[in-house]
Amino acid sequence: MDERAQGRHRVVVVGAGFGGLFATKALKNAPVEVTLINGTAHHLFQPLLYQVATGILSEGEIAPPIREILKRQKNAKVLLGTVTEVDPEARTVTAVAPGASYTVEYDSLIVAAGASQSYFGNDRFAEHAPGMKSIDDALELRGRIFGAFELAELETDPAAIERWLTFVVVGAGPTGVEMAGQIAELAHRHLPGQYRNIDPKQARIILIDALDTVLSSFGDHLSTKALRQLHTMGVEVELGTKVVDVDETGIEVETRNGHQRIESMTKIWAAGVAAPSLSTQLAKATGASTDRAGRLEVNPDCTVPGHPEIFAIGDMMSLDRLPGVAQVAIQSGRHAAGQIKQRLAGQPTGQPFKYFDKGSMATISRFSAVASVGKLHFSGVIGWLMWLAVHLLYLVGFKNRVTAVLHWFVSFIGRGRSERVATFQQVFARRALQEYRQHLP
Ligand SMILES: Cc1cc2nc3c(=O)[nH]c(=O)nc-3n(C[C@H](O)[C@H](O)[C@H](O)COP(=O)(O)OP(=O)(O)OC[C@H]3O[C@@H](n4cnc5c(N)ncnc54)[C@H](O)[C@@H]3O)c2cc1C
Repeated sequence: MDERAQGRHRVVVVGAGFGGLFATKALKNAPVEVTLINGTAHHLFQPLLYQVATGILSEGEIAPPIREILKRQKNAKVLLGTVTEVDPEARTVTAVAPGASYTVEYDSLIVAAGASQSYFGNDRFAEHAPGMKSIDDALELRGRIFGAFELAELETDPAAIERWLTFVVVGAGPTGVEMAGQIAELAHRHLPGQYRNIDPKQARIILIDALDTVLSSFGDHLSTKALRQLHTMGVEVELGTKVVDVDETGIEVETRNGHQRIESMTKIWAAGVAAPSLSTQLAKATGASTDRAGRLEVNPDCTVPGHPEIFAIGDMMSLDRLPGVAQVAIQSGRHAAGQIKQRLAGQPTGQPFKYFDKGSMATISRFSAVASVGKLHFSGVIGWLMWLAVHLLYLVGFKNRVTAVLHWFVSFIGRGRSERVATFQQVFARRALQEYRQHLP
């Protein structure tokens, strides 16, 4: 049915992350037809990926199906697909899904395709040091982390045991700190007593960053507290240390004291983000500029220059040096939806997007987090309770909140990790797919 013929405005939203999902929801009562296209069938709460990777939460708890979230929003439909092309002249987007390719017309377009992992030009590191952007990544990491303890248990050579029990996390931002903290808790608190040949407490957890601080965006006070807490937990923090190579059995770094090799089977990349490939395509098609990370430089109202009908929001937009965080994506998504509603109501548009910084937080261990809200700084248990409240608030779906609380209870009050299942497919599928693609004509 031709919706334009019926006078309904067609909004296509690309991406169902924080930006795209909140933009779609904000259009609930608007006189529009929304088509939300996403590369996966689920919305992903990325800030808790590290808890899936370390066996605290199940993947379903942080990745609810998009169509279930939107089932009551009658003016929205959800399509599985990766958008490969935006044609601003024809006002169409083209998407592909396994065995399918389709084109959708739009009157307004909101592009919210997020960000991808950056290895700063060393993409070959990815094979041995997976990043953490998707459920696939988190499950692969879960398999590698728990698998490392299993394989250490089978070894008799002390050097090999040490290699299996050395975990290196690259990047001391919130993701790296949370990941290192959770592996430390796993090794020192949850796994002891479960192995007969190895002592999980012997595991080394090394957190590396090229900068001289951890959590640099949180300021000196909280950064120092976080560093102290990491040391207390037994995490070795190597600052001013640059990764120069990664291979199957170790990682090479440049420190102030020179070159060093760390023998480690499990490396995790938590440093650097880059814009998705769609950003490059959209920039080419519209003549828009991109910043160094490849993000689209947008007008103050989040529209793409020369195209008032196209909004780029969230992680893939470059505007006023706003950080790539969930609140920027949520608020810019709502702003784009608001602009479309105003335009349809015949009201003036073009108002600049105003970001309200609600603060940032990172957990370090159970009952310990740092939180920065305006000029106020919180740490320890208070910071952790704030972290708990905020994550419960933004976790999508009532049932997910209930089960997440149960799992947190099991892991933080008790000593269990209820989500330790890892399959060979999860660990090896990436490599198998890469090899398969190499043999394609
Ligand atoms: C491990 C990790 C931890 C984080 N922790 C925090 C935190 O503690 N606090 C915080 O505020 N922020 C955190 N962030 C950042 C936050 O998650 C992002 O800023 C936020 O998700 C950005 O929202 P977005 O909608 O722009 O992109 P995303 O949430 O990344 O969503 C993009 C969506 O677009 C889809 N997509 C991509 N390309 C295409 C395409 N071509 N076609 C169709 N669909 C496509 C993807 O599948 C995805 O669903 C974290 C991020 C990560 C990776």
